[in-house]
Amino acid sequence: MSLFSAVAMAPRDPILGLNEQYAADTNPQKVNLGVGVYFDDNGKLPLLQCVQAAEKALMDTPTARGYLPIDGIAAYDNAVKALVFGADAEPVTSGRVATVQALGGTGGLKIGADFLKKLNPDAKVLISDPSWENHRALFTNAGFTVETYAYYDAAKRGVNFDGMLDSLNAAAPGTIVVLHACCHNPTGYDITPAQWDQVVAAVKAKALVPFLDMAYQGFGHGIQEDGAAIQKFVAAGLTFFVSTSFSKSFSLYGERVGALSVLCQDKEEAARVLSQLKITIRTNYSNPPTHGGAVVAKVLNTPALRQQWEEELGAMRVRIKEMRQALVDGLKAAGVQQDMSFMTQQIGMFSYSGLNKDQMLRLRSEFGVYGTDTGRICVAALNRQNVGYVCQAIAKVMQ
Ligand code: PMP
Repeated sequence: MSLFSAVAMAPRDPILGLNEQYAADTNPQKVNLGVGVYFDDNGKLPLLQCVQAAEKALMDTPTARGYLPIDGIAAYDNAVKALVFGADAEPVTSGRVATVQALGGTGGLKIGADFLKKLNPDAKVLISDPSWENHRALFTNAGFTVETYAYYDAAKRGVNFDGMLDSLNAAAPGTIVVLHACCHNPTGYDITPAQWDQVVAAVKAKALVPFLDMAYQGFGHGIQEDGAAIQKFVAAGLTFFVSTSFSKSFSLYGERVGALSVLCQDKEEAARVLSQLKITIRTNYSNPPTHGGAVVAKVLNTPALRQQWEEELGAMRVRIKEMRQALVDGLKAAGVQQDMSFMTQQIGMFSYSGLNKDQMLRLRSEFGVYGTDTGRICVAALNRQNVGYVCQAIAKVMQ
């Protein structure tokens, strides 16, 4: 009898578990479209030039690694604020944004969730149906009851926007609504600017608490364009949460660089909120690590590197779009009768392919093509060498 005798085996993480299965697959043509990671046209995880240049500059003047402040590197936090809200925008210039460096976008969400739990322990959390798997688990673990708002309409291949609005309108005041700021994961379907206006109006009318998850800024239409939803919430005079991830946009997955920003009513309120966010951080992991934050701050705050980053991010965005088109063309060439052009209407890294679980399992077992059981495939992991094979495989399971 040990202390751990009664410990049950937890289920494998649905996505990271796929990675393990992929690694063990001996099929030489195997393709991993499971995890949300961008690979370049050679199938390699990129190390961005701007990141290398920033690292070189940092190494030219090596610094000792003391503890960072609890809320992270000030130059980093300021760069995040500028990126999310606009450098000269009123929320930033008036000092009413509280931003903390976080361990990736996940860390930003978690700090926000813990803070919200203390603030309003009885609030419910609404996430989109479907959403990134970890949203539900993370907010549940923070102690919340998590429910969903309508989002995906499988029959229509798009957003069930009326359903979404109905869900928001039916929510109790104070309900926390997790919204994907851009590049919805997993479906690839975003709402239109006009629909955002309606969401903002509903959130305001019902006094809901918006939590915008921005994990893919720059992967949809552009850095500014992808941040447009944030501007709408600001314009409506709302206070809200934004989590930022640089995992994808800087290809710095393993450095865990992200942030949480809370837009408050005024500067004094932001100072109080910041003090509470710092307690959440202090009692969890004390303070964030130095390297990733230093690199991102260097890039964002150095005009030449910033320019380079925008170009490199732009190239990733364009390549994903090319792969969407290659997928649609390739499926047609492989004999798929069904109109698959919806894949080019989707945006960001993912495509909800419309394939069912059986088809996804066949893709894996017969072809070594790994996507999630829900039919999500990561378009950002396709390249000119593997897209033809993937199309053939999909065509076979669609027969
Ligand atoms: N939110 C969404 C919607 C995501 O897709 C991801 C990453 N897959 C995250 C948050 C977390 O990002 P990070 O890896 O930086 O923690």
